[in-house]
Amino acid sequence: MEWYPRHRRDLPWRHTRDPYAIWLSEVILQQTRVKQGMPYYLDFVTTYPTVHDLAAAPEDEVLRHWQGLGYYSRARNMHHTAQQVVREYGGVFPGAYAELLKLRGVGQYTAAAIASFAFGEKVAVLDGNVYRVLARVFGIASDIAAPATRKEFQALADTLIPATAPAEFNQAIMEFGAIQCPPRKPDCLFCPMQHQCFAFQHGMVQELPVKSKAKASRTRYFHYLVLRYGDTVYMKKRGPKDIWQGLYDFALTETDAAELPAVALVDAVEALGGQLATNRAEEPVQALRHVLSHQKVEARFHSLWLQQPLPVSLAQAADLAAFTPSETNNLPKPVLIANFLDKPWK
Ligand code: SF4
Repeated sequence: MEWYPRHRRDLPWRHTRDPYAIWLSEVILQQTRVKQGMPYYLDFVTTYPTVHDLAAAPEDEVLRHWQGLGYYSRARNMHHTAQQVVREYGGVFPGAYAELLKLRGVGQYTAAAIASFAFGEKVAVLDGNVYRVLARVFGIASDIAAPATRKEFQALADTLIPATAPAEFNQAIMEFGAIQCPPRKPDCLFCPMQHQCFAFQHGMVQELPVKSKAKASRTRYFHYLVLRYGDTVYMKKRGPKDIWQGLYDFALTETDAAELPAVALVDAVEALGGQLATNRAEEPVQALRHVLSHQKVEARFHSLWLQQPLPVSLAQAADLAAFTPSETNNLPKPVLIANFLDKPWK
C-alpha cells in the first residue's frame, strides 16, 4: 500500500465511486487488457451514462458497441443485469457483497470489486494478479486453475485486507501484480517485497503460481455462403448454445475439413431456393482464421451472386435477411465477419 500511490496508473474508473461505472469497468476488463478495454469503457459511459440508459438500449446496439472485445456472453449478461438492476432495485445497485452476487454475470470477483471500491466493504478481491502475487510472496504451490484453490487464497487474502482501507488494498495488490509482478519478467530486482517474497528467496519466481494447462483447442471449419443480390447481402443472427450468440454472420455450413466439395456448396444454395448468377469457377473464396479461447475457427467465405432474391419463406426459415452495406455496418458481428465485410464488395 506504500508502493501503490507512487506507481498506480491513472485510470478513469479509479476516479469514481459510482457502482454502475465501476461495474462497467470490471465487466469490460475481464479477460481484456487495460489498454484494449479503455476505449470501450469510455464509449459505454458516454453512450449509456446511467444504468437506466443501458437497460433501455436494444441488445443489438449494445453488442455493436461491444464488438471486438470478444466473450460476447459478457455483453449479454451485462445488458441483462442492467435491466435487472432497474427492474428489481429501482436502478440503484445493491450496496453489499452478498446482494451483488445475486446479479447475473456478477461473480465473486466483480461483487468484491464493486463492494469494496464503491461501498468500502471489507471483502478481498481475487483476480489473476492477486493469485500470482500471493502465490509468489507466500510460496503457495496449489493449482490456481483448480476451483478448490480459491478458498485457500480467499482465506489468505481475507487475513491481509485491512478494515480501514479495503478498497485501496484491493487496488494496490492488483496493480502490484499487473506492474511490479507480472507473469513474465517480474521486476524482482527493484521490488519492495523482495525480502519477504518466498519465490524470490527460493529461486521459484518462474515456477509460481502453478497453473494447469487449459484444455487443448479444437479447430472448426466454417464455410460461409455469402449470398448477395444487388447491393444487399444475406445475414443471420446466431442462435444460443454456440460461440457468438446474438451476433450476425452468414448462412453457414460447418465441416470437419478445410475443403467443401463444390457439390455441397451448390446443394446448400439450392436448399435455400437460390439460383446462382455466376458459375462456380468465377466464385471468389477468401479464407480467414480466428482464434478463440478454446477453439480455432478456419473460415472460408464463398461469395455467391444470386439471380434473384431468395424466396421469402425459405430465407425466413433459415433466419436469413438481406441487408445493405450501411445496415450491415450497424449490426453486431464477430470480428471475423467485420474483417471480411471491411474488404470492398465485388
Ligand atoms: S520479488 Fe519478484 S516475484 Fe516476489 S513479489 Fe517482488 S516482483 Fe514478485
